Order: sequence, then structure tokens, then C-alpha cells
Amino acid sequence: GVRVRFAPSPTGFLHLGGLRTALYNYIFAKKHGGSFILRLEDTDQSRLVPGAAERIEDMLEWAGVPPDESPRKGGPYSAYQQSQRLGLYQEAAQTLVANGAAYHCFCSPQRLELLKKEALRNRQTPRYAELQQCSMDKEARYDNRCRHLSPGQVEEKLGQKQPHVLRFRLEEGVEPFQDMVYGWNRHEVATVEGDPVIIKADGFPTYHLANVVDDHHMQISHVLRGTEWLISTSKHLLMYRAFGWEAPTFAHLPLLLNRDGSKLSKRQGDIFIEHFALAGYLPEALLDIITNCGSGFTGKPPGFYCKIQCLCVASKMYFLACVENRIGRTLDELIAEFDMTKITTHSALLDLEKLPEFNRIHLLRRISDADQRQALVKDLQVLIEREYKEQLTEKDVLRTEYIERALQLRKGHITCLQDLVSPAYSYLWVRPSVPRDQLLKVSPEVDTISKLVLELVENSVLTTEKLSAELKGLQKKTKGTKYGAVMKVIRLALSGQQVYT
Ligand code: GLU
Repeated sequence: GVRVRFAPSPTGFLHLGGLRTALYNYIFAKKHGGSFILRLEDTDQSRLVPGAAERIEDMLEWAGVPPDESPRKGGPYSAYQQSQRLGLYQEAAQTLVANGAAYHCFCSPQRLELLKKEALRNRQTPRYAELQQCSMDKEARYDNRCRHLSPGQVEEKLGQKQPHVLRFRLEEGVEPFQDMVYGWNRHEVATVEGDPVIIKADGFPTYHLANVVDDHHMQISHVLRGTEWLISTSKHLLMYRAFGWEAPTFAHLPLLLNRDGSKLSKRQGDIFIEHFALAGYLPEALLDIITNCGSGFTGKPPGFYCKIQCLCVASKMYFLACVENRIGRTLDELIAEFDMTKITTHSALLDLEKLPEFNRIHLLRRISDADQRQALVKDLQVLIEREYKEQLTEKDVLRTEYIERALQLRKGHITCLQDLVSPAYSYLWVRPSVPRDQLLKVSPEVDTISKLVLELVENSVLTTEKLSAELKGLQKKTKGTKYGAVMKVIRLALSGQQVYT
């Protein structure tokens, strides 16, 4: 069966790029009745961020793409964090040493440093540019010196307890492989890279080894991951070959970039999933926007429409049809419409300025569902209490019927639930106190207007239509105060707002 994995390194919190990779994996798994696995690649102990591992899993749950097997949930291939599987990597590496595919390297950090300096000195050479492009870790190319140690020399150094790493022997003649997105690929890694370290001096594996070993042992059928790993795949395939294992199928996902084509910035802190959760965005709006800007889906959108524009050039009419991208797909719809063959290699350009609009539409979808609406009302109750605490003199505003009415009244206008407790809407929960001179500025007839309006409200049962007709009639009873001014006074007095939001 289909088994896919999302394999983040807990060196930071989950961001939009990571969520997108996880989402494609999740969708692919659900589409094929398979399993979605979360595996934490925490082998670089120096770069771990405390709490990140926990929070990555929390955020996947929040986003509605929970893993079937994970560090927290466990599963048939526990443990799901690499730092707890060290024995497995050691064993695998020893297998490679035994069959000659890996070797002990005793080169000192000083020697490697020299190699690096040398490479830097030659940085102008085309060779260096090539190296920079191909070597993921941007390190100088190792010259494979320790490949040539005799078994006796290795024994001796091991006997002297010399610090060492294990390196994988990169063979030339890699086989091409077919990537589900990028098509046929082949990177002759041995000609551009030195032999990569697979076990570090501290006994921890590097990404390349751990990744291959785990994908094999966890029976991963398809590897869907960021395109930055495409050039490493040939190296991984050499490892599968050395182990005598069958490799999974690969699908590399194009980049997710800002609207202007720049890299999604992590520095601004605004691409972390927790930021969006705290700001009140709905998970389905996030899932929608990060797939909407990319490819891989078929089907017509619910709000799908075709804009026909007429253009008149040199007395000829041209009709331009442009299909608007749709907003409002739920996760179930995404799964239904997913088609791997539709993923292109184009970068996806994300326009985060559109997120409020995505959220507005998903909020409307939720409000239209009775159960979800009740949940929103409960959330809103909490928000109102938190935001207005002791200011809440009217206990009635906390009643679910009242909150629901307020929600129905402003739905479509608000982009997220939090908007309803913002100052612009405080009048829904707390009576505004508007200074008299502010009202007088709107109309000198304030006293007359308020007297008449109060009489109106107290003495008759009003419907919306009746009320507006009566209010229109008011201008006759005041010294010619215009209907508009009457409305302005009422609005200001009741909402504290000059304009209707
Ligand atoms: N740990 C790697 C990362 O953080 C995983 C890459 C892969 O999926 O193979 O991107």
C-alpha cells in the first residue's frame, strides 16, 4: 500500500513551506487509502530548537492533517524520531563498510578546513561554481583520501582510538530515475562531490544515510519532498543500490515563493503556522491558499467563473476569457481533485495579502453549517469574555442566541472571528459612551432626535421596514433635520462609530 512521510528537522517551527509538503503527502495518502507518517529528523543535535518537535506535531493536528504514525502516536515502525534509532543506522553503516561501499575516514577537521580554504582560493574557477551548486552543504569537496587506506592502516588507527567518520563511496555511473514531477533525472554526483559522511564523529548519522535507512525500514512507497532534494536523489539511489534495497518512487515538489518570486522569509516570523493560528485564521483557509497558488488539482471551483473581457483594437473586437482561480476548497475537495500528474515544475507564488479573503470565504462556509456555527459561537463567547471582561455590564450579550445573531449580522463582512471583538465592533458587546458634544457636532437637534427615536421604539412593535419608514418620517418632526443626519446621530450614539463597518 501507499506509505508516505513528512520528515522535518525540528530545527525550527512549522512554516507554510513545511505545511505544504505535509499537505501534499497527506492528500496523496488519503487519495490512495494509504498512511501518512511523521518522522522527525533530529540527527543534527547542535541545531535542535527546544519544543519544536512537539509543536510541529501540534500544528499538523491543528491544520487538520494529522499523521497516522508519529512520535506521539507511535506505530508499527517506532521510534519515529531518528535520535532514537541510532543503532539501526550504525548497523546499516557497518553493512556498507563490510561490502566495501563505505569506509573509515580519519581526516582531521584541520585538514578539511585546509581543503575548504583551498577551494575558496579557487572560487573564481568554474569548477567552484559548479561545486557550490551541487554540494548541498556548501562544503569543499572532500578529496576521498581515506578511500585508499589499507585494511591494516584502518585497524591500526582504530586501535589507537583515532576519531573518525564513515564515508559513503560514491560510484560513477548512476542510473537515471523517473521523478513523478520532474521526469527523468540523473546527477553524476561522484564527479562533483566528495564522498559524503554517513556517520559523524559523534556516532550520529547524517541526513542522507538516516533518510535512506528509514524510508526503507518504514516501508515508504513514495517520497514527496521539496525540490531542493532533487539533486541528492541520485546519491540516495546509489545507497539503495549498495544496500540491495528497492528504492521508493520520488516526487519532488516545486518551490513555494512570495508573490514577487523571492524566498519565503522565515525571519519576519509571519510564515509560521502558529502565527496564523493565533491571529485567528482558519486551517482550511491556509490549506486552500497554499494549494491554490500551485498545481496538482483538477475540477471546477464552486466560485469558479470565467471573466470575459472585450478589447477593441484597431476596430476589431477581441474577447479575452480568463479563468479566475477559485477560493473556498475544503480539504475533502482538495483530496477529491488531487491529481499528481497535474503538478508542474513551476514555482508556486504565494500572495499572502489574499489570505484575509480566503479566510472570509471559509468562515462563511463554516457559518453555513449548523454544528460548526455553534462551535464558532462558543469560540466567540470566550473571545468576548477575554476581550471585554469587567466592561460587560449586559450579561445578555453572552447568551448564545445573541452571539449567533451578531455573527449572522456581520458574516461576510468580517475576515476572521477576532474582527468581531475588535474596537470597531465593541458596540455589539459593550454600550458605547459618546460625549454629548461629539453628537452635537453631527446635529444640533440631538435632543429632539433622541426623544423622538425613544418614543418610537417604546411605543410600537417594530419590524425593520416599519422602523426605517418611521425614521424617514422623523425629519418632518424635527427642524428639518435630514434623514441622513438622523441616521448619523443614531449610529454614533448606539455604536460609537461614525461609519458603518
Ligand atoms: N529532514 C529533511 C528536511 O528537513 C527531509 C527531506 C526529505 O523529505 O527527505 O527537509
